[in-house]
Amino acid sequence: MSSYSGNIFMVVAPSGAGKSSLVNALLAEDPTLVLSISCTTRDPRPGEEADKHYRFVSHDQFKALQQQKALLEWAEVHGNYYGTPRDRIDLALAQGQDVLLEIDWQGARQVREHFPQAVGIFILPPSIQALESRLTKRGQDAPQVISRRLLAAGSEMSHASECQYVIINQEFSLALQQLAQIVAATRLRYATQAQRHAELFSQLGISKTVA
Ligand code: GDP
Ligand code: ADP
Ligand code: 5GP
Repeated sequence: MSSYSGNIFMVVAPSGAGKSSLVNALLAEDPTLVLSISCTTRDPRPGEEADKHYRFVSHDQFKALQQQKALLEWAEVHGNYYGTPRDRIDLALAQGQDVLLEIDWQGARQVREHFPQAVGIFILPPSIQALESRLTKRGQDAPQVISRRLLAAGSEMSHASECQYVIINQEFSLALQQLAQIVAATRLRYATQAQRHAELFSQLGISKTVA
């Protein structure tokens, strides 16, 4: 086990803003990042694989996970329950691995209570029209599900200020570059570097705590 604790990145966005596309592209560039696989009571979309995109569970199974305190956070989003399993995150952080969470604003608030240093990144669409067209073009949700998600987008976006960082996902490659830059900058924070390079800091006589 490393004495270095990994960073937590929370990617938050209204449905269709492009968070899964960005996160998947980031993971392809940086396989050291650990993606948290959420539990959900929602039905799988065409092409979604169990335990890769989500762990699909029944309402009873979800309740059991809540009662066992197996979830770091959970929330009801668009009429379904979603939650982050605690075990994988705890293990990854203890091993010094950085963890990515794709969660809604309610979940991000709960994670911050446990990990105040968690980094929040809000993904905005370039316009409401673009959001609607992306949700429609993705072609994986029924029209009434898309309407419900569009209606919820304003309320989700009203919580953008709770995140330290905002990315406007207009040009995909630029948004991806910006996401990677946030990860890189976080890894260079004083507290992180002092922990990761404790021996060097000692040799150089530099304090390990932030002034
Ligand atoms: P998932 O992996 O099934 O969740 O797929 P996504 O919804 O994340 O993305 C659907 C597809 O769109 C994938 O093949 C992505 O690589 C692709 N994609 C994502 N963003 C863009 C983009 O900006 N331009 C283009 N041309 N393709 C994109
Ligand atoms: P989310 O995970 O936030 O619901 P997705 O990653 O599934 O969103 O993206 C929604 C749709 O928008 C997908 O079909 C994706 O290919 C598309 N998309 C994502 N980013 C862009 C972009 N910058 N330009 C155009 N289309 C995009
Ligand atoms: P989708 O059904 O499109 O995959 O996700 C819908 C919403 O649920 C998104 O806002 C997404 O961020 C959120 N979500 C996905 N997994 C979790 C989770 O584990 N916890 C919380 N709180 N929200 C989640």
